[in-house]
Formats: sequence, C-alpha cells, structure tokens
Amino acid sequence: MKYIDEFRDAALVRSLVQRIRQRSNRSARLMEFCGGHTVAIYRNGLRQLFPPTVELLSGPGCPICVTPNVDIDKVISLSRIPGVIIAIFGDLMKVPGSRSSLQRAKAEGADVRIVYSTMDAVQIARDNHDKSVVFVGIGFETTAPTVAASVVQAQREGMKNYFVLSLHKLTPPVIRALLSSGEVNLDGIICPGHVSTIIGSEPYEPIVRDFRIACVISGFEPLDILQASYMLMVQIEEEQPRIEIAYRRAVRPEGNREALALMNKVFSIGLGVWRGIGGVAHSGLKLSEEYRDFDAEVKFEVTTDPPVEHQGCLCGEVLRGVKVPTDCQLFSDSCTPEHPVGPCMVSSEGSCSAVYLFGGAHG
Ligand code: SF4
Repeated sequence: MKYIDEFRDAALVRSLVQRIRQRSNRSARLMEFCGGHTVAIYRNGLRQLFPPTVELLSGPGCPICVTPNVDIDKVISLSRIPGVIIAIFGDLMKVPGSRSSLQRAKAEGADVRIVYSTMDAVQIARDNHDKSVVFVGIGFETTAPTVAASVVQAQREGMKNYFVLSLHKLTPPVIRALLSSGEVNLDGIICPGHVSTIIGSEPYEPIVRDFRIACVISGFEPLDILQASYMLMVQIEEEQPRIEIAYRRAVRPEGNREALALMNKVFSIGLGVWRGIGGVAHSGLKLSEEYRDFDAEVKFEVTTDPPVEHQGCLCGEVLRGVKVPTDCQLFSDSCTPEHPVGPCMVSSEGSCSAVYLFGGAHG
C-alpha cells in the first residue's frame, strides 16, 4: 500500500538500525512526545532495535491522558444537566474521573454520544433543537482547527444550541515546561508528526535555541521513527542541535496557515492545566470573546467537588517521563484496559495501554 509498505521495508529498517548503532557511541535520551509515536514504537517492537546506549522515553503526548481529573469531572457534571447532550470522541467514555466516568453517567441516564467528527456533533445539534449539545474538545493543535471549524459553522447557521467545552492544549509550551523543570534530562525530542502538520517546524526553533536540544519531526511508520532517531543521533554526536523535518510528506516549516488562522480566530491562548504537570502558561485554548456564545463554560454553571487522584496511579509521573508504566504497582494487576484505573490505560495512545498490549522492554 502506497505510503505504508515502503515505510515498513525490513531491509531499510536493518540498514537504519545499523546506522543508528554507528552513531551511538555516547549515551542519549530521546523522548517521543506524541502518544501516536509511543504506540507505533511498541507495536512495531522498535525499542528492542536500539542499542543500549540509547534510551527512549515517552512524554505527555496523549491528549486524553493529560486531561486532569478536574476537567473529566466537569464533563461528567455537564452530562447530568437536564436537556444536555454530550458529544465526545470515543476514548473519553471510559476515562475515570475522581468519582465516576462518562460511561457510568450514561448508564445512569445521561445522554452521552460518541461522534467521529465535530460535524457529527453539529448535526446532533441540528436534529435536537430543544436540547443543548456540548462537544468536548480534547486534543492538541491537530484537533483544535476542526473544533474551530464546527464553531464557525454553528455561527454561520445561527445555531443557539451548540457549545464547545474547550480543553485543548498546545504542545511547544509543555515541551518547554518539561525541559525547564530539569526533572528529566533529554538529548533529543522526536517531535509530534500530526501536531506539526498544523504548526510546522518554526515553533520548535526557540526551544532548540534556548535548551540546545536536538529536535526532529517524525511520521508514524517504523522507518519514519528510525529515520528521525538517526537524524537525532547525528545532531547529538555532532553537538549541533537544530529542528529538522523527517516527515516531509506531511509537514512544511510554516505549517498549515489556513488551519492556524482558523484556530487563532476561534480560540484565545491561556493557562493550560495538565495531569501530572499542573498549570502551564500559554498552553491552553479557550473560546475567544467573539465566540463566547458557544462556550459551554459561559453557558452553563458547572460545579464539581474537589478532584481526587486515583490511589496508586502513576499517570502523572509516566506523562512526565520520570516513570515507566511497569513501575506502577497496579499495572496489569488491578489496572488493565478492561478495568482502567488511570487514563494512560484507557486511551489508545496511552503509554500504559501500549505497554500492556504490545509489551517490550523499556530502553
Ligand atoms: Fe495509572 Fe494504571 Fe498506568 Fe498505573 S498502570 S500509571 S494506575 S494507568
């Protein structure tokens, strides 16, 4: 299959692994930010191909996982308001909040519907004039433009019953926050592919400059990730950090200007609150003043009890790259994809779920 088979070619994989080994005389710690990369690495057994000098860490790139309990609780509270229909992407259904989940709320009578696109949520609003539809916007720069487009569409149609609860987050500020914390020492970042199709490579330039860290944007097939890792190892060995694009078939330096303009029109940037990391300035997106009529937080007064963390769950540490899923005592014991304790075991992009499903040693 075009763009699939050639990026899984075994001979090319062997050749790239060999080239990585030749560049691995000094030890290096690489972090893949994106949950999609984490899953691809485990699913394809890539960790085992790296030499022992190269350590791969997973970062906070799973959108469901980084959504803190306080926000999950908010969604559950919204779902209990009479006349409200909650529209979500599927992964969110099973994520445990402090005391319940949307799955349980639905079983108790809440109207929670899984949608496959934001326009599905707009259609639900068109079909239910007497109800209020709240789409829960979770995700990074990849999904925010499509949510923005749904708001613009709702405004164009004069809809009064479509709202967005924006829990969107931005990636460069949290990469910066992780590096600033000094908690995890990194030599290189495998930068997110999907996010970078929107933002391009330019936002990483100040990160490279301020932290002198190697950065390469990667795609999601085995050869993509190995190629990006090789490029990182070259930068690290030559001590010449820079931002490079290994995912050239999808990413341009300037990104997708149209999508960025749409995002900037509908959202304004503010504080983002991340599970395990806390508040990060300039990393959250809320609906801008112009679109406040579509803001679920303006329309509904939502009160929640103080959030409670899941006893024994190390999701926060896993998301910061300071622990790995198997460090958690609950892993594969009381926490499994069927009965998840934390979000990293629920999401299809979560580290705990990836390790549980595909196994493999940690590099
Ligand atoms: Fe949390 Fe479960 Fe992962 Fe442990 S194994 S960190 S409880 S999601």
